[in-house]
Amino acid sequence: MGPWYAAAALDGSIHQSAALDGLSCEGCGAALNVASGERTAKCPYCASPNVVARPRSAGEDPTFVVGFVIPEDDARKRARAWIRSTWFVKTAFAKADVSDVRGVYLPAYLYSGSATVQYSAQIGENYTVTETYTTTDANGKTVTRTRTKVKTEWRSLSGQWAAYLDDVLVTASRGLDNAELEAIEPYDLRALRRFTPKILSGWLAEDPSRAVSECAELARQEAVEQVGSRLAAHMPGDTHRDLRHETTFQHEHGALMLLPVWVLAVKYDPQEPPVRMVLNGQTGAITGTPPRSWIKIAGAVVVLILAIALTVWMGARA
Ligand SMILES: [Zn+2]
Repeated sequence: MGPWYAAAALDGSIHQSAALDGLSCEGCGAALNVASGERTAKCPYCASPNVVARPRSAGEDPTFVVGFVIPEDDARKRARAWIRSTWFVKTAFAKADVSDVRGVYLPAYLYSGSATVQYSAQIGENYTVTETYTTTDANGKTVTRTRTKVKTEWRSLSGQWAAYLDDVLVTASRGLDNAELEAIEPYDLRALRRFTPKILSGWLAEDPSRAVSECAELARQEAVEQVGSRLAAHMPGDTHRDLRHETTFQHEHGALMLLPVWVLAVKYDPQEPPVRMVLNGQTGAITGTPPRSWIKIAGAVVVLILAIALTVWMGARA
């Protein structure tokens, strides 16, 4: 898969013009960069306090960047609304400090490639038949009636199909997994700009902390899924089943880019993993599930049962 690796070869060009310190999170493995002299006490991805200095990696520069559209006060407002969006939210969690929300430039790969797909499927064509049947009517007499029924005729179809994919985005961060990125996609890639180190000033940014080969694998999985749904939409007939496809990719390319995200990691209980909100810094799309309190839910159920019992009792006395 030469081109992908070639594009991402370590060429030693670091963000030299930006005065940045490298930090590494011992909790989740994120490789953060902050402006020189600035300190961050906690990892924005996992709220771990174990953030240690690391040498700046001599990796590739990002090619593109999508800028922040959502400002910090808006991100805080959205974080507060997110916390309140869940019923019976745990009290300790509800007290989360939304000023901990941090803007991070997330490293991601924008994958493109051409897919050659060998497929086979059963294609169904619907047709209508009129059947006669016997039944008993209201007077108990046997009568003959007709009804129409839709039937499906199946035929096999196989062939080759080609597609070009150019908008597959996958995380290159250890701190943030790909499912979370997918949950806040899409990014409007018309807003892509060439990367310049100046863009990072005032923001946290992360160096890729996943291996290129791992990102390539993630991208291909996503590309195969995309091929599957596009192929399904392309199938003729009224319906289809047993759609199988074997996809090979050529002319693969991965461009390293930075995506704006607002992250709030809440460590509300020392025994529990942190709960995290991730907010698309361009569109405001949010992912993350605030934890519910089972004690609160059980309390509400008890109150409800008592209310019903009281109503019934009052009704019986009247
Ligand atoms: Zn972390």
